[in-house]
Amino acid sequence: MKVDIKELKPKKAIIKIEEVKPYFVNALRRIMISELPKLAVNDVVIYDNTSALFDEIIAHRLGLVPIPTDLSLISFRAECVCKGKGCPNCTVRYTLSKEGEGAVYSGDLQPAEKSWAITEDKIPIVKLYGDQRLILEVEAVLGRGRDHAKWQAIQAPAYRMEQIIEFDKTKLNEVKEFVSKIPENLVTIKGDKLILKDETKLPILESFINKEHIDFISIKRDPTKFLFHFETDGSFSAKDAIVESVNILQKKYEELGKLLKDLK
Ligand SMILES: [Zn+2]
Repeated sequence: MKVDIKELKPKKAIIKIEEVKPYFVNALRRIMISELPKLAVNDVVIYDNTSALFDEIIAHRLGLVPIPTDLSLISFRAECVCKGKGCPNCTVRYTLSKEGEGAVYSGDLQPAEKSWAITEDKIPIVKLYGDQRLILEVEAVLGRGRDHAKWQAIQAPAYRMEQIIEFDKTKLNEVKEFVSKIPENLVTIKGDKLILKDETKLPILESFINKEHIDFISIKRDPTKFLFHFETDGSFSAKDAIVESVNILQKKYEELGKLLKDLK
């Protein structure tokens, strides 16, 4: 297997994975959607709410606020030493108190410990007018995307097979004419192939091929080479998200291996 990091931003990554089968890349994608745990608000105690929104709507919005998650510091409540009662090992608490004209943002949630401060701090929760007030307390716990979408840290992880764009050699002049019509720097001609400068721009090339009714250029896919891309909601950095997801996948394979050994 070969892995090449094409792009790594704080919340976004594009990774090229080669010499694997589609099921492997798909397993990684599904782990990211449903198994990677993250923190999300699960309990809200509202002490005072004279804003225009119902308590339930505010609670729903708080549930969707991304909370920075460090999996080495927090455990699942059901597996915690407190046996599900709730303690600093499995629960992160925030308070929010705001009064008077102005918007309440996700960043107004004050953590019990500074290390859990909300980094996506500009998400609007509600707008207060005049002497309106919002005072509440919340508890965030670990959960998985398969239980509720608020615990899904990765947005739209997806993969695409690498494409091979070939053309009929006898139609080189037509190909050259076609390339001159489409945006500059989209593709270059190499032998009997077209090479995309940016692999993510294939749909643009396809739309031109369809528009011009071109039948001498064909696009094939290589089922052993994948371009895998995903974005996080801010609970994890893209790097941590992929590392943690791979750890989960590895543990699952090990678990299966152990169980099968016991069968013998
Ligand atoms: Zn606990």
